[in-house]
Amino acid sequence: NMPITIDDTLRWLQRLADALHENRDYLTQLDAAIGDADHGINMDRGFKAVTEKLPAVASMDIGSILKTVGTTLVSTVGGASGPLYGTAFLRAGMATAGKHELDEADVVAMLDAALEGIKARGKAQPGEKTMVDALAPAVEAAHEAVQAKCDLIQLLQRCCAAAEEGMKKTIPLQATKGRASYLGERSVGHQDPGATSCWLILKTLSDTMGQ
Ligand code: ADP
Ligand code: MG
Ligand code: MG
Repeated sequence: NMPITIDDTLRWLQRLADALHENRDYLTQLDAAIGDADHGINMDRGFKAVTEKLPAVASMDIGSILKTVGTTLVSTVGGASGPLYGTAFLRAGMATAGKHELDEADVVAMLDAALEGIKARGKAQPGEKTMVDALAPAVEAAHEAVQAKCDLIQLLQRCCAAAEEGMKKTIPLQATKGRASYLGERSVGHQDPGATSCWLILKTLSDTMGQ
């Protein structure tokens, strides 16, 4: 049963930057419907900056790498998603401080910390049409996977499937946090951009470990 290594972490972050670049227009279109049409631009800018920092952190532990992602996102991404994902990666880095490998329990601790960080920063609960609607079910699925004694790859696949389902379930929701909340009932019928980028983050992690 293979853990997530430092090399896997670096490969994940590079692939994530590539995926966000490829999905830049898609995420921006989702944000055009219920926000200000910049979510893809924000995420692409932030993770491009992350990839530029990767060579300098490649010999560090996983916690330090994730903390660097967090500080980079906070300083380069304008808009709500910068501080929210920044806090998520900072907390994830604190939960994995000093680690050179992550097993199933470490991954659950990392995801728990990321979700707590986003909730502390943005005050959103599930059902408010935000990234929390993808991440919260993913974290729950991770806990259940550990209970069910799944291996790491199965755990990540279940996480990713739960995030995807949560993302799709944002479509009928009315937004009560962030810019989309200004639309009131007109936010109904559109998939949340942040829930979509959250699913992409987990999907690239799952794909990185599964291949
Ligand atoms: P902005 O809305 O400032 O332009 P982005 O477009 O980059 O920032 O990000 C928008 C996404 O941020 C939303 O789709 C939503 O998922 C997420 N978001 C906004 N506010 C909150 C919040 N308070 N808690 C959690 N997520 C939020
Ligand atoms: Mg926006
Ligand atoms: Mg904006």
